[in-house]
Order: sequence, then C-alpha cells, then structure tokens
Amino acid sequence: MIVLLFFYMYQQIIGLEEETFKVLANRKRLEILRLLRNRDLSVNEMVVMLGMRQPNLSQHLTLLRQYKLVKVNRQGQKAFYSLADNKITKAVEMIYQFLQNQYGISSELPAKVLFPIVKDIVCGMRLSASEAFDKVQHHGHTYYFCASGCQQKFIKSPSQYVRRKEVVSGSRA
Ligand SMILES: [Zn+2]
Repeated sequence: MIVLLFFYMYQQIIGLEEETFKVLANRKRLEILRLLRNRDLSVNEMVVMLGMRQPNLSQHLTLLRQYKLVKVNRQGQKAFYSLADNKITKAVEMIYQFLQNQYGISSELPAKVLFPIVKDIVCGMRLSASEAFDKVQHHGHTYYFCASGCQQKFIKSPSQYVRRKEVVSGSRA
C-alpha cells in the first residue's frame, strides 16, 4: 500500500516536471525569470525591459504563476512579481553552464574579469555583465542591457541614451 502511494507520488512529480519544462521552453519566459533573479518587478517595469505588450506579458506571467515559478505581491494598486523560489533560476543557470561546456563555448577566464558590474543605459539598472541579456557595440563602447526591450530601444535611437550618459558623467567630473 505504502509502496503504491510512493509510486503514485513519483509519477505525479515526473508529470509536473514534464509540464514545468514545457513552461520553461520559451525565450521570453526564461528572460522574465532571469530579470526576477535581480529584483522584484512590476508589470510596467517588465513591459519596458522586455519590450512586450502588456496583454502578452500578462499571459506569460499567468502561466509562470500557475506553475508556481513566480509569485505576486500586491502593494496598493501595484503588483510586484518575484521568483517563487530561486532554485528554478539556479536550475536554468546549470542548464546554461551545461550547454556552454557541451558546445565548447565556455570561457577560460573567471567571470569577474570578463563581467564587471555595468549599468543598463536605458533603464538605469545595475547588473553584472554576465547577467546582461545582451550587449551592443556603439562608437567603440560596449553597452549592456537588462533585457531585449532596453536593447531594442537603444538600437533604435542610440544617440538619445549616449548623450544622456555623457551629461551624467560630465556633471560628476
Ligand atoms: Zn534595462
């Protein structure tokens, strides 16, 4: 009887694992989890960072919530999303490292040397370059971005952001 019960529980977990991997098998949802690794975010913030329309983002968030990957905390009118448990991003990170090794695209240099702390010039978020969604070369400088939305904004109109940065650093000098 007890053996049957454990067998049933095992089957249930395997089924959930299969479903969870299906939910993870989406570029945008992986990007959302990656962003939430750094801090809690509101829907509006994620709309900007990911360059998505809100109904589309909400669909992804609903699915992530349904599968207990993220949770929502309401503060008055605003809803902030966070990771339900950072084990899931650790697992995704391990798959990333697995792929780096298996496909021979891992780096020999330690991450701290390769990936200093950088600032996303579009949204102002500070992040490790290793956590950055992507980088863009512009006039000999490398710019890092938290997510695809900020990157697209920069590519559309780099001068808007570069100028702003120069003003900021100029005022500090
Ligand atoms: Zn950003």
